[in-house]
Amino acid sequence: MSQTEVPMPVRKRIALIAHDNRKADLVEWARFNRDVLAEHELCGTGTTGLIIAEELGLPVARFKSGPLGGDQQVGARVAEGGLDFIIFFWDPLEPHPHDVDVKALLRISVVYNVPIACNRASADFMISSVLMEREYNRLVIDYEERMPKDS
Ligand code: PGA
Repeated sequence: MSQTEVPMPVRKRIALIAHDNRKADLVEWARFNRDVLAEHELCGTGTTGLIIAEELGLPVARFKSGPLGGDQQVGARVAEGGLDFIIFFWDPLEPHPHDVDVKALLRISVVYNVPIACNRASADFMISSVLMEREYNRLVIDYEERMPKDS
């Protein structure tokens, strides 16, 4: 199957999301990495975005809260090519009303080969990658080849 190269700029568009039980951890992580995050464009789901903006004193564009469609908005942004990576600290022990949205976001990130860190160690490796300071061409599989053609 063919693939398309999608350029990721030096200044990356980063989405931050955390479930309630994981917000404190994300805040701590974001504080530790504030200098790096300040070099990039940040957005987040409603509550997470608000907390991160307050804690870091940085602009964070906010989507709706996760349970009200925020995760779906982030997914739509991925599909449109408007995000470069996602830090998503989801809670593995609690069921959520929007669990299906979480699954959809994980899936669409795989479809578009967008990096998504779901735990702190992955987020550490991503944020400290040499690729953070460079342009990077993400390879996106042309799944449309598998779609039925219009008759
Ligand atoms: P929140 O949403 O940032 O508005 O809390 C996150 C989520 O639950 O997915």
